[in-house]
This record gives sequence, structure tokens and C-alpha cells, in this order.
Amino acid sequence: MTSSNITIGIDVGGTKILGVVLLIKRTTRGDSNPLSTGSFSLEIIQELREKTPNDGLELIDSLFKVVSELKQALSIESPVPVGVGVPGLVDHEGSLRFSPNLTAIRSLPVAKLLAEKLAQPVFVDNDATCALRAEYLIGSGSNYKDVLLVTLGTGIGGGIVSGGEIVTGAYGFAGEIGHMVVDPFGPICPCGRRGCWERYASGSGLGRLGREAGLAGVAKTVVELAGGDPESIKGEHVTAAALAGDLEALGIVKQFGWWIALGLANLASALDPAVIVMGGGVVDAKGVWLDASKEAFSQMLEGLQYRPEVPIEPAKYGSFSGAVGAALYAFERIEAL
Ligand SMILES: [Zn+2]
Repeated sequence: MTSSNITIGIDVGGTKILGVVLLIKRTTRGDSNPLSTGSFSLEIIQELREKTPNDGLELIDSLFKVVSELKQALSIESPVPVGVGVPGLVDHEGSLRFSPNLTAIRSLPVAKLLAEKLAQPVFVDNDATCALRAEYLIGSGSNYKDVLLVTLGTGIGGGIVSGGEIVTGAYGFAGEIGHMVVDPFGPICPCGRRGCWERYASGSGLGRLGREAGLAGVAKTVVELAGGDPESIKGEHVTAAALAGDLEALGIVKQFGWWIALGLANLASALDPAVIVMGGGVVDAKGVWLDASKEAFSQMLEGLQYRPEVPIEPAKYGSFSGAVGAALYAFERIEAL
């Protein structure tokens, strides 16, 4: 094992930070970059979770702590590549300009500040673009040249591969699909507008649909799981009840699947993907909502009988895609230096 194929990847979510140490192994002989030849395998050899602070300098401190503790756990003393995925508008210099779910963090030069603290280069990209990188290079999107990746967590993130190229947009901001407005009169969003897609189709969107049902006097099992208070219902309570076969919870999941499908059908019209890969924390909930969204999607897609099927696949790396992809991004950038 050489230190050059050990890489740290960190995924900053709306509520938690996930850090991993990745061992990248070449699967064929040769000196070329294994990421570009596609001949490699991955192993996550260490992982660590931290709470996400809603403060810029505290976030940098937490990222520094995650890197230090991951290295310490494996007795790594030499510098290793570090990649970080953060949610929101991330520019080409690795600054987080705007993040709807981290309301107190604005224009934070994450790459610069963390690099100064660690005394080494750090590579920062949008969290969903990182997840896309993992799934496109070695995951559920690896057999396709046109991939749409959608992450469902606290919010919704998006990553796009078109004709074999990762789409970043003019400024690095492409794929902010969670803030497509699907109902201009809908609930207010932390981004400042109303009825964004992620108010309905993210993990917190599922919780909101659950609370609405609970307050309307349905979803008794879900209310019980939330400790008896409909206002305390979260997405995980709805998922748990649905997995146990509760019919009212399954009704909420069906509604949730419809909202997911609505955004996916709009995106399919704009992007014409060969596959849609679903990632993020919600994916680990055993896909109870996946069948519901597939069914609704198949009814919403334009010209359904006249186009090839667009498969919807769960992310191979599940809620780890973002951290794995952040590590691959750092590895890629270091190899290119
Ligand atoms: Zn929004």
C-alpha cells in the first residue's frame, strides 16, 4: 500500500458530515491514471461522522477535525489527497457561495481556508457533483454516457453527465435541481422562494408530507412512532411505518413518489438521460418510495411509447456516493498536477 492511493473524501450534508478514507486499487497493470482507464476498485477503510455546524469558521474547524481523526485512526502521518463535497453553489475555486440549507454560511472559501489549516491542497466541489463522479466512474451510471444523478437528503442535489462529460455550467453551479419551483404557491423554502422541488421530494419533504397527514388525523402509526406528536414526524418515521406495511404510511410514500417523479419527468424532458441514478440518505430506506416514483414517472414521461425506457437505479454507493466521489475528485486532481 502506498500513500498515493489512499485518499480522504468528505461529504458535507445539511445535518451531518461524513468522512471516509478510500483505498483506490488498480485492477490492471499500467502507469496510467486508473480513474481515466476505468480499471480500478475501491475500498472504504475508515469512516467518521460529525454534526454539520451552521457557521463558516466552525465548518472549517469540523472538516479539519474529520481529516485529522481519520488519519489518526489509521496512523497515517504523511499528507494524503483531500476532497470535500459541499451543498449549494460552489464555484470553480472551491468557494461555497450560497447554500439554502446552511443558512448562516455565505461566500465561504472552503478550499482556501481548509488548505491553509492543513498546509496542503484541498479540492472542493458541489456534493451532488461528487456523488455523480462516484456513480459515473464506478457505480450505477458507469455503463452510460448520459446520466442524471439525483440525491435525496435534507435537500435535493443533482449531477449531470452529458455525452460522457460532467456538466458544471459556466460558473460551477449546474445541477441545483432541488430549487426548481414545482408550485409557486407552495411552502416557503430556505432559498427564499416558494414551492421548490426539495420542499416535497427530499427527506425533509417526506417528513413534511407525514406531518400534514398526521395533523389531518390520518397516519396513526406514524404519529405513534414520532412519540405521539404529529408535529414531530420526520421522514424516517414515515419510512419505518411503510416498511412495516402500514397502509396509511404507504399512502404518504405514494404521494412522495409522485412528487419525485414530477421533477424527474421535467428533468428527463430537458436532459434526455439514458439512466437516472438516485442517491442520498433517503436511498438507504430500502427503496419503499422507489417503486412509487418509478410508476408515477412512467406515466408522466413525454411520448412514453415512442422513446426507450429511462431506467431509475439506486446509487451503488448509497449515502456514501458523495464522500467516495469527493475522494475520487481529489485523486483525479492530484494525478493531473
Ligand atoms: Zn428553494
